[in-house]
Amino acid sequence: MAQNGSIEEDTIIRVSTGGKNRIRGREVLHAACEPKASVPIVEVGPTGIQELEPLILATYQGETAFYPQCSLMRVRDLVVALDDGSLPTTGAMAVTEHDPATATLPTPDEGVFALGQRRVLDRSGWILPANTNDYVASRDFLAATVADQATEWLSTLDDTGLRGRGRGDGSCDTRIADAWRTVREISRERDADPVVVVNGNEADPDAEMDRLLLESNPLAVLDAALAAARIIGATNLLVYLNETEDLARDRVNEAAAELTNKVGADIPIEAIAGPDEYTAGELTMAIEALEGNHRLEARLRPPFPREEGLYGRPTLIHTPRTLAQIRAFFVDGGDGIGNDSDPGTRLVTVAGDVETPMTLELATNDTLSVVEHAVKLDGRLKAACVGGVFGGMTRTLDVPAHTNALAAANLGTNGVIELFDQDRCMLSVVGHRASFAEKENCGRCFPCRGGTQQLADMLRDIYDGTFDAEKIRELLRVMHRSSICQFGRDAQRPVATAMNEFESEFRAHADGRCPNGVCTP
Ligand code: SF4
Repeated sequence: MAQNGSIEEDTIIRVSTGGKNRIRGREVLHAACEPKASVPIVEVGPTGIQELEPLILATYQGETAFYPQCSLMRVRDLVVALDDGSLPTTGAMAVTEHDPATATLPTPDEGVFALGQRRVLDRSGWILPANTNDYVASRDFLAATVADQATEWLSTLDDTGLRGRGRGDGSCDTRIADAWRTVREISRERDADPVVVVNGNEADPDAEMDRLLLESNPLAVLDAALAAARIIGATNLLVYLNETEDLARDRVNEAAAELTNKVGADIPIEAIAGPDEYTAGELTMAIEALEGNHRLEARLRPPFPREEGLYGRPTLIHTPRTLAQIRAFFVDGGDGIGNDSDPGTRLVTVAGDVETPMTLELATNDTLSVVEHAVKLDGRLKAACVGGVFGGMTRTLDVPAHTNALAAANLGTNGVIELFDQDRCMLSVVGHRASFAEKENCGRCFPCRGGTQQLADMLRDIYDGTFDAEKIRELLRVMHRSSICQFGRDAQRPVATAMNEFESEFRAHADGRCPNGVCTP
């Protein structure tokens, strides 16, 4: 079986996979143990590049060779060679030299690992995910440094200007420090117990960002969450996950136990699974699920969760992505990283008409076009949907990755970028999203419940020859303005942006013709 090696070993085999490729990863891990060599063999988390899994990182005295999709025979040979004192490099996709004691993934200068940044992903695929020695490696736990310094911390957080990441974050696209202050002040005024929720429930199948962090470096997420809990005076910390994500849940539980052991048990950490439904990730529906309600409906705001959240308590909700940014700023410093209006980096999963999805980290002043170099697209790029299932359609990715630029281009900030090739029919693409919205909305407010139904009907009517662009646009405006939660406000965006860019395709369908030959009469 695998051994308990850590980054301190200068000769070691790492087997890197995420939850989706774990079965194959375990086979490779078992094969690596067969030669019964003295070389440590460990299972590490994903790097973000699924196509390469199971990825073997064979390290020998300051040099690491990367072997993608490693076969059972290859891994056995690698173990024997390392045991004999050599590092074979034939067939490796890259070989890189590094400090033998490095705590972070030594990235090759060329190829897919060289694209974008590896700041919050610096240890993903390298450290043992829940090993506190690997995690701290010359740095202290964040949660251990905040005692009696809450005011200083809040002021530093304010200075960073950090904004929340992801649709399930209570500070999505807004300044994090404002939420921390509100929770702290309201709790004091009302003498209430605040609570911290890590919202890792993201049921969009294309969104890998939070899962990647929880599977590869859960300590970074929990450490930042525990630091936040101590600063706002929270009495417990809940981690809300999808019920089918076994690996993420196991790693969170393991990391929580380790962190409690090392930093203290003053704030209990508990992982709770919620339904694998898209709406369950919305922050007030996350609270409903955590309270044990089976029928999830979004809550009216105000009051916002930071004022009155879980069981009426002031509640700070952050996604793993946001917490990883906070940790990176406090531990590594953040001067000059990203755009001043939205500093730091943004994790994006590239999906759509690509051979294998991958997750990339971009500085917020990088343009999204970096993602085109990261994946193999089936054909030429026709359009991209930026920001998840209800993101915005665009022909160009020449847009910076910060919130203001994405909003100005009517694109979403929820991480996923789907690339579509020239064969795609845009009416068909947005029609499926309208049907998804019609089916998945929680039903609480009419602008979304009735609006998504009308929208799906109007898009179907186009196939029967009726395309009333103004009527559709008016409906989209109402949905955007009047829906209670972000689901309904965003559900209109794919259609609105596709009509701006591809209206002629909509008209062609009304004339009985699909320009791409995708839709049958
Ligand atoms: S916008 Fe949609 S999902 Fe949100 S409360 Fe209204 S019906 Fe429910």
